[in-house]
Amino acid sequence: MREKAVDVREGAITTREREIRTAATTQGTSDDRISMLRQANAQLVIATIDAHKLAEQVQTAKIELDHLAHHDVLTGLPNRTLLYDRLAQAITQARRSGKQLAVMFMDLDRFKHINDSLGHTVGDQLLQSMSRRLLGCVRQSDTISRLGGDEFVALLPDIDHPEDAALSAQKMLIAIALPHLINQHDLHIGASIGISIYPEDGLDAETLIKHADTAMFHAKDNGRNTYAFFEQEMTARAMARQSIEASLRLALERQEFVLHYQPKVNLLSGTIVGIETLVRWQHPQRGLLEPAQFVPIAEDSGLILPLGRWVLREACLQTRAWQDAGLPPITVAVNTSAPEFRAGDFLEYLRATLEESRLEPRYLELELTESILMRDAASADSVLHALADLGVKLAVDDFGTGYSSLSYLQQFPINTLKIDQSFVSRITRNPDDAAIVSAVINMAKALRLRVIAEGVETAEQAAFLLAQHCDEGQGYFFGRPVGAEALAILLQTGVSPALPH
Ligand code: C2E
Ligand code: MG
Ligand code: MG
Repeated sequence: MREKAVDVREGAITTREREIRTAATTQGTSDDRISMLRQANAQLVIATIDAHKLAEQVQTAKIELDHLAHHDVLTGLPNRTLLYDRLAQAITQARRSGKQLAVMFMDLDRFKHINDSLGHTVGDQLLQSMSRRLLGCVRQSDTISRLGGDEFVALLPDIDHPEDAALSAQKMLIAIALPHLINQHDLHIGASIGISIYPEDGLDAETLIKHADTAMFHAKDNGRNTYAFFEQEMTARAMARQSIEASLRLALERQEFVLHYQPKVNLLSGTIVGIETLVRWQHPQRGLLEPAQFVPIAEDSGLILPLGRWVLREACLQTRAWQDAGLPPITVAVNTSAPEFRAGDFLEYLRATLEESRLEPRYLELELTESILMRDAASADSVLHALADLGVKLAVDDFGTGYSSLSYLQQFPINTLKIDQSFVSRITRNPDDAAIVSAVINMAKALRLRVIAEGVETAEQAAFLLAQHCDEGQGYFFGRPVGAEALAILLQTGVSPALPH
């Protein structure tokens, strides 16, 4: 009814406007003054109509701006600002009614990986698909918001028990886990959800979101694709992460890092053909830390750049020192993270380091992950070819765990595939894993690539790999990562596992 009235009025304005505009352009002949007055009057009316239109446009723009300021452009979901508003409101209401509310912080597992390997367009579409599924899991009165990146926060403003939030979390995890069909890719993705409850875990919006975030990290540590409620002790863990980041900076200056080396063995002859460099952190309070405890934090904070440079330089100097001491020359492999590889001066630093250490490039191998190669293939291509021209070897680490297109194996000048240890660990137990490993070995042979199995722990695994004509093996069965001195002894004496022949 109201719309109709507006239509009629607008119609009237348009017709009237036409008349007035005609009048304004018609020259009066009988009486010029009357004609002029008429014209002036007409122009005034036109100006009023224009002003009226402008005001309407401003109003529409205001509404649009207001929507933009409170919603995420990609998914149309409420953004951080609107979430905080609604959360503050919900807290006030819950306080009055004595009820509970839940905040659920959700982060997609390995989203970065998909974004890196399949590109941002696919990543964006996945986020849109995600938001539709999440909206399908909650009530009208609940809020699903996107904070940015792959982070979503759900607000359940009225729950009877924390278990209600757990049920919602389960529903969401199931909905998300169904494959997302995007650009012909059947994408499987999981999420980790952290839950905080008002008033138990916090009395204000900031604290509730922070605690849900902390619980989310805990869920990730618990094996991903799961949810966790906030517990007070988790704050201690989050603080530990922060303190690691802070002490990482100092660790570089104080030279607290050490390199361990693990042998790579020719499966047929049993001789050591190379070593992999694995960094360790001799932490003054916590003892010897494994890369899993600090490399991801170093990658997030950018500290991986100076750390990676230190590892590369140290590994080259050490390998050259062994050669100078008359030990059999071997190839040294260095793990390279995506941020290092993408740094503009990566090639330059690498060249300078080879020169300084006098290590021949053919004795250096870089271990790269599939996602480094898949993301921005064009620029990866030029760096990879420059490295190959230099004579440096290239290996794909953890092969089989990423989303990779096999065509890049031909396109890029790669020398070696490293079969991920998760497949190797199951080859003697699970026929599917055995089939995958055989297939990768055969494919590598067909493409004239060297192939090495990681994480070989038993004689049976080594025997299987040998029977499948895998070239090399690396793992506790042949030798654990050891310090430089112990490795020098290994180079002299060789590894001595009971190799089955
Ligand atoms: P990665 O490159 O796949 O290294 C192999 C990991 O498997 C090493 O863990 C090694 O100690 C472990 N490993 C070797 N043999 C066996 C085995 O038989 N069984 C089992 N269960 N594990 C085995 P580590 O040293 O903890 O390193 C973990 C990851 O951290 C590495 O995975 C690599 O991605 C990263 N990393 C290590 N050092 C560096 C570094 O200097 N720079 C960068 N960017 N990343 C590094
Ligand atoms: Mg590696
Ligand atoms: Mg690996």
